[in-house]
Amino acid sequence: MGDYLRFVARLARAQQERLDGDLATHLPAADTLAQCHEYAMPPLAPAGLPRPDGWHAMARELARAVQPSLPEAGQAALQRILDKPDAWLDKQAGRLFEAETMHLDAAATPVIGAALQVYWTHLARQLDSAQVARPEHANLCPVCGSHPVSSVVRIGGAESGLRYLHCALCGSEWHVVRAKCSNCDNTRGIASFHLEGESPVVRAESCPECRTYLKTIHQDKDPLADPVADDLASLTLDLLMDETGHAKSGINWYLIQGQP
Ligand SMILES: [Zn+2]
Ligand SMILES: [Zn+2]
Repeated sequence: MGDYLRFVARLARAQQERLDGDLATHLPAADTLAQCHEYAMPPLAPAGLPRPDGWHAMARELARAVQPSLPEAGQAALQRILDKPDAWLDKQAGRLFEAETMHLDAAATPVIGAALQVYWTHLARQLDSAQVARPEHANLCPVCGSHPVSSVVRIGGAESGLRYLHCALCGSEWHVVRAKCSNCDNTRGIASFHLEGESPVVRAESCPECRTYLKTIHQDKDPLADPVADDLASLTLDLLMDETGHAKSGINWYLIQGQP
């Protein structure tokens, strides 16, 4: 995984540079935000927003930024982002938003998703948490309605020891009590797994009801542990959970299991 993680690190740095730069994104109108709050709907759901102007160009910029460091096959995959028409990028984005992973171009998706993450993160951080309502079922992001990557047990302050789910698209985090399956709300028989011989910073919590698992990243065990990076870096745990017959309820846009 070393080379892949280094590729993702470069991609994440390129995302951060763009997020810190000049980005014109606009929140939905105040009355739309108020309505979403009233009905506990995610205000930044991709289905309800126009695709941001310039997102195709952003995807191509990110592809150019990371392409030179890749081996030939990886370069060819990203060349598709540079060569294909905007409509192809829109189609890939639509599938990613719908979590239709089987028909995604898995090799190009991390960069396509990265461009969308920059815009949605930029939008999400313009919102005040008071503008977002807590949905009845907290399995999806209250801000944008996307699936979580993983969850994180936080340290420090009033949130210490609490578990937050971390959004795959906009990076928002929302609280879900620890003793509960975040996918189906079941509270019975939740089991916790980690790799033998390794420090239990990353655990997979499985649910016997819906047969899914979500990883929990313990910042109480390692303050620098990260809900996205450490999810990727613990792929072995995913393979072992797959063998136990549990499906992953989280999704990491940097590593999509699709078809080439
Ligand atoms: Zn979100
Ligand atoms: Zn469940």
